[in-house]
Amino acid sequence: MPGVYFHWPFCRKKCPYCDFFTTFPFPDLVEAYYGAVLQELNNYSELDQEVTSVYFGGGTPSLLSASRLDRILQTLYSRFKLHPKAEITLEANPENLTRERLNDYFKLGINRLSLGAQSFADSELATLGRGHRAGRVEHIIKQARELGFQNISVDLIFALPRQTLAGWERNLAEVVSLPVEHVSAYCLSWPEKTVFAGKRKKGEFAPLSEDEELAMYRLTQEILAANGFNQYEISSFARSRFRSRHNSLYWENQPCLGLGAGAVSYDGKTRRRNAVPVRKYIKDILHKGSAVDFSETLSPEEKMGEAILLALRTSSGLDKQKYRREFNQCVEQRYRETIASLVKENLLIDTVEALYIPAEKMALADAVIREFL
Ligand code: SF4
Repeated sequence: MPGVYFHWPFCRKKCPYCDFFTTFPFPDLVEAYYGAVLQELNNYSELDQEVTSVYFGGGTPSLLSASRLDRILQTLYSRFKLHPKAEITLEANPENLTRERLNDYFKLGINRLSLGAQSFADSELATLGRGHRAGRVEHIIKQARELGFQNISVDLIFALPRQTLAGWERNLAEVVSLPVEHVSAYCLSWPEKTVFAGKRKKGEFAPLSEDEELAMYRLTQEILAANGFNQYEISSFARSRFRSRHNSLYWENQPCLGLGAGAVSYDGKTRRRNAVPVRKYIKDILHKGSAVDFSETLSPEEKMGEAILLALRTSSGLDKQKYRREFNQCVEQRYRETIASLVKENLLIDTVEALYIPAEKMALADAVIREFL
């Protein structure tokens, strides 16, 4: 099992653009959830397989106390064999990180921090309903560096309501001036039932035009590349050696164990998903020992489709030889016409080794990928 994911679904307040399932961290609920996650973890023991990546995502995993994180990690070490250089990531909200907590996390073995900065402009942070101010992220990064963190990632969101290209450029200029190894830049989406979607309906907010979004995306690629961040996925940019190993596992369709409410596991054949909301997850773990409420075993055709969809998200694309080894057929056998038509439109590059979307067309990756469905 190369990857293990822990979901910590608690947030102190709901960001107005977010549709992830999250819950307020009522102390009794957090305690019960923590117990359930430990119980779920104890269901597994795969000491024969090396774990290369552990990821604490959410929600807000930086609300996890050091003592609880320690217990989870110790339990994990007793059930799985961890690669000596395993990547251990924790997503963190700059609002609730303290130097003391950062220090504890570092000492416990967290070696990659993923900071939800989202913007470096106070007005944009206010629009996004974030609780921190612009200088806070720089301050946290400085402290993390002093404490020894050598792998820091920053998340940013672009195409915010009323954001200009110049405004987004200032964000990019700020992030490349910071000592970070990785940047994830996401275009704002407008999921239904969020406060943002409501404001859009009432005409208070308007999404930027596709042309404006595209201009921001291209500027992101340009500025990050010029500053040593290589794009390796639609939204991900890294200095050499600092690609997210955990996310790469997903894009390479590798097995990963997901623990916690709503977490998804994949063992190479079957995908399983745990129940939500939090109280149902806890109840199922306590009474049934398992919270799995959905499971599907992929047919060979579905696996082929997924391998393509996931690989085309990355700049290296689909490794044709690997595909042939895994599925015992060439990718052209099944998708000859689709590939030919995308190549003709300059949306896909087809070489002897790989199929990939050229960098200047990466903004259209979702549309290209849909052609394979
Ligand atoms: S902190 Fe993250 S997960 Fe929580 S509400 Fe905000 S965006 Fe969603």
